[in-house]
Amino acid sequence: MTVFSDGFVETPYWWEAAAPEEGRPHSELRDVDFLVIGAGLTGLNAAITLAGAGCDVAVVDARLIGEAASTRNGGQIRAESKVATSELSRRFGEDVARGVLADFTAGRTFLAERIAALGIDCDYQWTGFFFGAHTRRDHLAQQLRHEKAKAAGRVIGAVVPPSELASEVKTSLYHGGYLYFDGGQLHPARYHAGLRRAAVSAGAKLFSRLPVQAIIRDGAGFLVRFPGADIRARQVILATNGYTDQAATWIRRRLIPARSYMIATEPLAPGLAEALIPGGRPVADTKRILYYFRTSPDRQRILFGGRASFSDDGARTAAMRLHGFMTNVFPELAKTKLSHAWYGNFALAFDWLPHVGVHEGVHYACGCNGSGVMMLSYLGHAAALRAMGQPGVIKGLDRVPFRTLPTYDGRPWFLPVVGNAYKIRDGWNRLTDRAA
Ligand SMILES: Cc1cc2nc3c(=O)[nH]c(=O)nc-3n(C[C@H](O)[C@H](O)[C@H](O)COP(=O)(O)OP(=O)(O)OC[C@H]3O[C@@H](n4cnc5c(N)ncnc54)[C@H](O)[C@@H]3O)c2cc1C
Repeated sequence: MTVFSDGFVETPYWWEAAAPEEGRPHSELRDVDFLVIGAGLTGLNAAITLAGAGCDVAVVDARLIGEAASTRNGGQIRAESKVATSELSRRFGEDVARGVLADFTAGRTFLAERIAALGIDCDYQWTGFFFGAHTRRDHLAQQLRHEKAKAAGRVIGAVVPPSELASEVKTSLYHGGYLYFDGGQLHPARYHAGLRRAAVSAGAKLFSRLPVQAIIRDGAGFLVRFPGADIRARQVILATNGYTDQAATWIRRRLIPARSYMIATEPLAPGLAEALIPGGRPVADTKRILYYFRTSPDRQRILFGGRASFSDDGARTAAMRLHGFMTNVFPELAKTKLSHAWYGNFALAFDWLPHVGVHEGVHYACGCNGSGVMMLSYLGHAAALRAMGQPGVIKGLDRVPFRTLPTYDGRPWFLPVVGNAYKIRDGWNRLTDRAA
């Protein structure tokens, strides 16, 4: 039996509501005060802040406007840092750790305020975020973390015991879970479309299919090289994340680009999607190679994502595997067909944190590590403020060293090895947990 519906397409489900767009004619590209490279949500948030302050700003993208990760993601908003506070303190000291937490808090506020201020209709909901426990040990760790936070006076969420799991997700796969109060979801393509409208109406000029080939220091500013043309820019903001190429080798050497895959089911029988995820929240689990899923905003479909391949398989091949993963969680979807499958690149930093800063005069914000929708929106805005001469906005993330490994050139040859090892470890943890 095929898992694909008759009208199956290899493009994001989200694009049905808001597809990527062409920018302005290339002949209109001129020298500019602020050049933003990358028209995802990092670049657009930077552009809106700059243009809103009356600056002369252009945004260039090698692809269509809205063709990359920003309109391909799960739309899940995870508001917690992947690195625990105690670990942040151990690695960088108390002051930086406090600053990083403050940056995440600012990211939460910023996202809500920006969407409201611009009146973007993108199904933004602050629902909380549910993490299913892959093993009993993971559930115990969730309980301990909860108690520790409580003892420190922080209520971050609620433990959901196995007996109450069905109120969040109707599956027997997880051993209970944890509900983080801080978290939510949105429609990524409609969020992006709202940002691009706002950037244009604030005066930013958007150009598609215009790859930057080199950024060259030129007096107090930069010479920026495109195929067949050079322009000058006083300031440059790099917002290229998982698609960073040879134009920015210093950043490229510090990011691990990885492919994540998603599928959308056909519309399910009325009420079924809600019955499967009654909590109505975005869901992920505690595996290293995790599943993430949610209902579509109209509650008719399940959208399901994960690392279905470590060797850059195409969307169709990966979709068959993802369908199997989805059926692990919801066996009742075994015969459900898929209408859409797609993939995109996200980027990890070696320390699992987002990064923002300036290198040789070029401002950057990148490294999503699971929280890009919220944090890169905020860090794009923050990078713009820095470029305008207001550096104080970032409290901790700009003091975290942005490290690479000797000989790493931005091509993560080790991903298949590490990814498969993690997968085996996930399986082993489950097996030994059962035996325990
Ligand atoms: C399948 C998938 C699911 C995800 N799910 C989630 C989720 O649920 N929640 C979450 O928080 N995050 C998620 N992410 C990550 C999130 O999408 C990213 O963190 C975020 O979109 C990055 O935004 P960005 O603007 O920095 O980069 P992008 O949107 O990737 O844009 C970068 C742009 O830079 C351009 N570019 C690169 N090099 C050049 C050059 N030399 N010249 C011109 N342009 C250039 C590219 O063409 C691209 O358009 C997911 C990612 C994927 C792929």
